[in-house]
Amino acid sequence: MKQETKCIEAGYTPKNGESRMIPIVQSTTFKYDTSADMGKLFDLEAEGYFYTRLQNPTNDYVAAKIAALEGGTAAMLTSSGQAATFYSVFNLAGAGDHVIASSTIYGGSFNLFNVTMRRMGIDFTFVEPDCTDEELEAAFKPNTKCVFGETIANPALIVFDIERFANAAHKHGVPLIIDNTFATPINCRPFEFGADIVTHSTTKYMDGHDATVGGVIVDSGKFDWMAHADKFPGLCTPDDSYHGITYAEKFGKEKAYITKATAQLMRDLGSIQAPMNAYLLNLGLESLAVRMQRHCENAQKVAEYLKNSPYVSYVTYPGLPGDKYYERAKKYMPNGTCGVISFGVKGGRKTAEEFMKHLKLAIIATHVADAHTCVLHPASSTHRQMTDEELIAGGVLPDMIRFSCGIENAEDIIADIEQALVAANK
Ligand SMILES: *Cc1c(COP(=O)(O)O)cnc(C)c1O
Repeated sequence: MKQETKCIEAGYTPKNGESRMIPIVQSTTFKYDTSADMGKLFDLEAEGYFYTRLQNPTNDYVAAKIAALEGGTAAMLTSSGQAATFYSVFNLAGAGDHVIASSTIYGGSFNLFNVTMRRMGIDFTFVEPDCTDEELEAAFKPNTKCVFGETIANPALIVFDIERFANAAHKHGVPLIIDNTFATPINCRPFEFGADIVTHSTTKYMDGHDATVGGVIVDSGKFDWMAHADKFPGLCTPDDSYHGITYAEKFGKEKAYITKATAQLMRDLGSIQAPMNAYLLNLGLESLAVRMQRHCENAQKVAEYLKNSPYVSYVTYPGLPGDKYYERAKKYMPNGTCGVISFGVKGGRKTAEEFMKHLKLAIIATHVADAHTCVLHPASSTHRQMTDEELIAGGVLPDMIRFSCGIENAEDIIADIEQALVAANK
């Protein structure tokens, strides 16, 4: 199946007389005839459901669709993108371990790593996505457990060189995790370039309608945990909290990572996506391919308009010829990047704030990547906890405006920008 078809068909195939849409199994609980039947589930001897904190059929249908879109072997939904990011790393690294992350990742991921996970005893090294090979090499330590990057950094719009980081990670016997939120599997499939695990905030394009917060983790099934057993005792030695199961042995490369995340992390930490939310997410996924195409077409037109505007000092959009990441985007995302653009308004911070005030169609929102056009001035909102040095290191200039093109008519979006720029410069 092609991606467009998977958006509709993958993950759930109704049998004769069953509902065409995925059923919403809102139940927390599942009934069994004997304790022995249920015992098999607890021992991970049989597949099935017993409690929705760990697994639920509605979620699994949707997770299977996303796994198919990414070309992975297993996936799990989480209650938010933050939970997906946290689990994806915590499934591999604990106190005393070390992780390498790109310095230009989403602000929420940066804070999760740099503050909260440090508090848990995990050490992080942040490297510039365009660092030299020597700098990247020097970041690895004997206790490094994974490398983390973002396909298109939110909001810096830096395109990550997935293949290069995957090669470096593999040389050191660790997997590469990619947050593929902005590109979506419609525009980029990180597994094809060597990434091992993919995460998403499904809150963004996948849902696409401001309707539901969620996340997902997908495993490529390619990383050979047993070949690096000394690095990953959690996967390669018996889990005493799960009847002595060794995940990598029992579930193989294809399923070990997600099974461990379900059996341990969901069990102990919760953060499952509500089945009703998974149903809404599935509605969004059905139109993902069509919407991504429109988002990219609109963003292209808006970026070209802004580039020629006398009121605009710079435009950053990896789909724009001449952009620093244009060539790299062509390699990783030949059919388009995303709908998010950033630009600077001449006159700096003050004119930028005036511009925001005069917008009528574009709404001021922390949100991005959905059907409605939204706009944000990160330095005074989402990123205000960061110092100027951290902002600049993260590629977020203090005067930068992040503009997320929706799927409205491009002429209307441009007319709104035009009148706000004129009004801001009066
Ligand atoms: C929004 C976002 C997240 C966090 O996701 P939530 O669903 O808001 O928890 C993670 N990564 C990226 C790239 C995002 O844009």
